[in-house]
Amino acid sequence: MSNVSVKIPFVDLKLQHQSIQQEIQQAIEDVLERGDFILGKAVSDFEAAFALHCGAEYGIGVACGTDAIALGLQACNIGAPDEVILPANTFVATLIGVLRAGAKPVLVDCDPNTALIDLAAAKNAITSKTKAIVPVHLYGQMVPPKQLLDLAETHNLLIFEDAAQAHLAKRDGYQAGSLGTAAAYSFYPSKNLGAFGDGGILVTKDKEVAQKMLRLRNYGASKKYFHIESGTNSRLDTLQAAVLHQKLPYLQGWNGNRLKIAQQYDNELAPLKSLGITPIENQSGDGHVYHLYVIKVDPQSTLQREEIQEKLANVGIQTGIHYPIPCHLQPAFSDLGYQMGDFPHSEKLAKQILSLPMYPGLTSSQVKDVVAVIASIVSEKQEKLLYI
Ligand SMILES: *Cc1c(COP(=O)(O)O)cnc(C)c1O
Repeated sequence: MSNVSVKIPFVDLKLQHQSIQQEIQQAIEDVLERGDFILGKAVSDFEAAFALHCGAEYGIGVACGTDAIALGLQACNIGAPDEVILPANTFVATLIGVLRAGAKPVLVDCDPNTALIDLAAAKNAITSKTKAIVPVHLYGQMVPPKQLLDLAETHNLLIFEDAAQAHLAKRDGYQAGSLGTAAAYSFYPSKNLGAFGDGGILVTKDKEVAQKMLRLRNYGASKKYFHIESGTNSRLDTLQAAVLHQKLPYLQGWNGNRLKIAQQYDNELAPLKSLGITPIENQSGDGHVYHLYVIKVDPQSTLQREEIQEKLANVGIQTGIHYPIPCHLQPAFSDLGYQMGDFPHSEKLAKQILSLPMYPGLTSSQVKDVVAVIASIVSEKQEKLLYI
């Protein structure tokens, strides 16, 4: 075992704010001064700025990303008895959002190399009831835009992007958040753009969708005390919006930093390929925003994913698994009727994937340490096998 003794967190949420602490404190004080805590000035300022960054027209801030999906689909008039196609390989919030909108979720498998929704499988899942597709730009990489747009156009599907992991992601000249009718984002603290708590937004180019979303997040009111439909209370806090607005100008730089870190991981991990360790494929070049850096550990290799994870933890290197159980195998959704074996690529990935530390400010020597420890685990195992 390597004698490197390191402490590397999976994410470091404090680091990001150290350099901009004063301006954020000022933005928070400005809100206190104005006292406009609900739907205040900072909310509309941030909504407009964020929508612009996504190539969209309108932004409607909500309480979290899950609400952005659930209410956003409703705002797009998606609900029972519509069928909505989404990947089995996503965070459960995507599925929960579709269910909350009242639509019937139709899960499909993923591409084993990128972990993104398999658009050929999506095509096969289309029925006369299919109204929408929810591509999830997982780990920060966009679903292939041209193929997605072609599929949607051919079959008259509404595209609703789950961009919760893909703030400012690009691919083949397209931008996340601008592909379809609407896109949902999360500002959970560890997302590429994170609040000091929960937050989310829906962005859209469609005025009617935007207006309906404004109502749905605010008890369904068209104006105060006038309710033309039933909504809920799901607003982005003014305080959170002020923080997010202050952080927004740095987002592109932070994403660039993530990309550099990922490229270093790619380079340093390359020699371990023959030993069964491969990164999830980046097919979008500089447009990948690396919310997560994920490797696959081949089960045929001498190493098990759990073994690597445990040995990394022993030297203080935190890792994650995104996600250990695909949506269709979660007990909560057993009534959807899916079974083990339905989505083999998603099931296989869930057993192989490991997310390595990734956050703006992770240093190049820390990346080296992470890979050095993995390499030492691998070679130790190889030596042991030689002696058997
Ligand atoms: C984080 C996330 C969500 C949900 O966002 P919350 O703000 O946590 O509700 C939805 N989809 C994906 C892919 C996510 O990563």
